[in-house]
Amino acid sequence: MQEIIGRRSFVLITGASRGFGRSLALEMGKVVGAGSTLLLMARNKDDLEVTKEIVRDARPGLAVECETLDLATADKESLERVVKANYGSADHEVAIVIQNAGTIGQNGRKITELTDIEEMSRYYRLNLFSVICLNSVFQSLFPKSRMVFINISSILALQPLTTWGNYCGGKAARDAVFRVLAVEQPQAVILNYAPGPLDTPMISELLEDSRTDPVVRAMFQDLKRTGALLKPEDSAAAMVALLRKRNFQSGDHVDFYDDKVKEALGGSVASVGPVAAPTSGTGGSGPAAGGSGASVTGVKSD
Ligand code: NAP
Repeated sequence: MQEIIGRRSFVLITGASRGFGRSLALEMGKVVGAGSTLLLMARNKDDLEVTKEIVRDARPGLAVECETLDLATADKESLERVVKANYGSADHEVAIVIQNAGTIGQNGRKITELTDIEEMSRYYRLNLFSVICLNSVFQSLFPKSRMVFINISSILALQPLTTWGNYCGGKAARDAVFRVLAVEQPQAVILNYAPGPLDTPMISELLEDSRTDPVVRAMFQDLKRTGALLKPEDSAAAMVALLRKRNFQSGDHVDFYDDKVKEALGGSVASVGPVAAPTSGTGGSGPAAGGSGASVTGVKSD
């Protein structure tokens, strides 16, 4: 098995201006080989620069570049332009794209309240279509490199949650698309990583939003109160351990709470933060509703 961690790499991370993307940038920045480049993408330039400083504090001298791009409007040409502007001669040993940017996008409405196809198209353009397009662009630009495609997924790709129909639909579709990629590109490494429930701005903003469904609000308040929201840096470090260990099949959906992560971390997820255990029976964890689609998750802290 050829290593993908520690090599001279080109690493593109979307949604790197805050939250999990910022932690992914830091953790990847610590482990890439000499001569690597990190390309950080999001809309907010100032926040991207903060991420860049955090990475360079941890890894002085590493090439860290920032590109502002709105993935809700990006197309093949703009995606190609930002990668080409930063990839030098594209002769990196490994090329890694981490598709992390994502939005909830439904403002407390049930799926039967969604009728605006333009609005849905905008949601899926950002959360699905741009992801497919970026994978294709990335594949075409690195003919000499070992390719790694990572989808930041969610337990909600597998389980329903009331008022999160777009989110669940988008995440499920992304997982499926990455599984197809694994079949079509057998020499590449493909991972659908569900990072667990994270203490990020996405969740603070959800709790602050008066339109949030009361069931969903109670679920996340409970996760916060019990300390079950993970530190994003712990989940990012777990993902890096998984990439190092490579104890998954290309295309697999691996959740932070899966045994594979525990094994990659050398035995215990407890070593990286509060442990939450699923009670809803799909082997996953994190923001999840039970079979009715309306019940509050059984996530608890050990
Ligand atoms: P977050 O705090 O809301 O950060 C989202 C990131 O996406 C930001 O950097 C944002 O940057 C970027 N983004 C949003 N809209 C964009 C657009 N139109 N164009 C380009 N970039 C855009 O979210 P997070 O919690 O870190 O989540 C990161 C990923 O993890 C998401 O895919 C999410 O679904 C997944 N996830 C999160 C949790 C959780 O509990 N938080 C659990 C499971 C999975 P700008 O605003 O600067 O553009």
